[in-house]
Amino acid sequence: MATQTMGENTGIKIRNKGVLLFGILLFVIGLALTLYEKVETYYVPFYGNVSVSRGYPYQGAGLGLIFVGAAFIALGFLYPQKTTPQPQPQQTEKTGLQDQGFLRKCVKCGTPIPLASEECPSCGASQKTE
Ligand SMILES: [Zn+2]
Repeated sequence: MATQTMGENTGIKIRNKGVLLFGILLFVIGLALTLYEKVETYYVPFYGNVSVSRGYPYQGAGLGLIFVGAAFIALGFLYPQKTTPQPQPQQTEKTGLQDQGFLRKCVKCGTPIPLASEECPSCGASQKTE
């Protein structure tokens, strides 16, 4: 098996990397906000620092960001990127046609033969068109 180009054969095609990364960023921020626990530390004389949890004040906003981020991630997978020009396989097809432009078909048997050929290498028929 020939070695494939890395990342091209994963089965999942990421259409828009920018949107996808933005979604991941929102998702991570949302996760951090959701998990952020507000802890207040008090200094108690003769005892030291005492930490008191005040709960998760940004949990609602964090969950919202997670949903929005997930939506952007989905968008990144579904929608094509408009700004980045993609490599066009048509160009290679065109060069292939140009290569075929140096060939013509035998007037007798139809085998592709070089333009300069005067005789068909397959059937030996003369290719003079005059
Ligand atoms: Zn021929």
